[in-house]
Amino acid sequence: MLKNKLIKHHKFKTVIILICIFLLINQFMPRNSKHIFPDAIALEASKALSYFPELADVDIKFKFKNHIKKSTMQAQPVFSSFLRTRNKRSYVILISKKIKIDDKEFNTKDIPSNVMIGWLGHELGHIIDYQNKNSLQLIWFGITYLLSESHIVEAERAADTFAVSHGMSDYILETKNFILNHADINDSYKLRIKKYYLSPEEIMELVKLNAKKTQPTD
Ligand SMILES: [Zn+2]
Repeated sequence: MLKNKLIKHHKFKTVIILICIFLLINQFMPRNSKHIFPDAIALEASKALSYFPELADVDIKFKFKNHIKKSTMQAQPVFSSFLRTRNKRSYVILISKKIKIDDKEFNTKDIPSNVMIGWLGHELGHIIDYQNKNSLQLIWFGITYLLSESHIVEAERAADTFAVSHGMSDYILETKNFILNHADINDSYKLRIKKYYLSPEEIMELVKLNAKKTQPTD
């Protein structure tokens, strides 16, 4: 009787120890970093990723979702990876299956390829922004993004700026022009885009600035 109890106790201890070992390994072992994306946007995702070599070792999953509240795409850190060091953090980029811009709906697959590349480039710009922050800064960022409009503007412009400084200005411009010049798209959405994001003129200014920076000085 006592022997049986002891064996049970021993098994329980073993299970607990195994769970602890698993959690430790999950936290500290080098992770198999991967970029995962649906076939439908494989070309566009690979192209956009090629502009961000520093994200090569960072886990990023592109995922279609039926509905995203108030936006078309959303880049966010995976919650379970929040306390890991930056390079071991995982991110997910959610992409709405139907790109709904106000009352007009587009199927994601009908969006021109270059526009999609620009859109994904903007999302990767957000991830660069997140990678520059530690866990506490990231939590603070999330709170202020929810609470203040000026922080949304700051974050969206930062994402555009990172995409442009990574050489994606042509794609970012194409995405912007697609939205701004599309006759079917509601004016209030266009106003929103103008308010939160860099304007085509500002992007051209950035391109000029970057070109100056990279020019050799003699
Ligand atoms: Zn954004």
